[in-house]
Amino acid sequence: MDPSGKKSETGKRFAVELPVLRPDLLPPGSKHRDEITPDESICDFCVGKCCRYFTVPLKTPRTRADFDELRWYLAHQQTMIFVETETTNGKSRKRWNLVVWTRCEYLKSDHGCAIYEDRPGVCRDYKADTCEYDSPWVFEESFETPESIRAYGERFLAEAREARRTRAEAKTSAAKKRS
Ligand code: SF4
Ligand code: SF4
Repeated sequence: MDPSGKKSETGKRFAVELPVLRPDLLPPGSKHRDEITPDESICDFCVGKCCRYFTVPLKTPRTRADFDELRWYLAHQQTMIFVETETTNGKSRKRWNLVVWTRCEYLKSDHGCAIYEDRPGVCRDYKADTCEYDSPWVFEESFETPESIRAYGERFLAEAREARRTRAEAKTSAAKKRS
């Protein structure tokens, strides 16, 4: 999860998860990332933040039915949707993601992994040098409630209708000029 951006709603709905979401609530003895020496493991100073949620990519919502489906996701507790901009070969596109705040059952009380040698590939591939250890969890855009995504969807659909109307008017006007 790339937590860059302008806006965050996190913490509003998930007070129970605050130790996970707030870098200032890291365990006693925690260090800033740049204070960790090469012979230390950053994970030893963490509460296992990456083991307390998972994300699922979503298709970009464009229709009333799409937004209604997102509303259904957010009707469930411990869920959130965030949007991030991904740039590839100079082209930017927005990516929508569902977050489910749920603790992995293998996360031990000392924040270690109970199946470290047998952990899934997703965990093996995860890179601690770019992880959310000290992330402020700020997102470009995020939604935590069914009402917020419904309101966004209504605005999006109204703007899309207006853009279609403007394009249709421009087309009609161009056709009249040609005739
Ligand atoms: S990879 Fe990062 S978020 Fe996960 S336990 Fe290690 S330091 Fe914490
Ligand atoms: S299997 Fe281990 S490393 Fe993977 S999410 Fe669970 S506790 Fe974390």
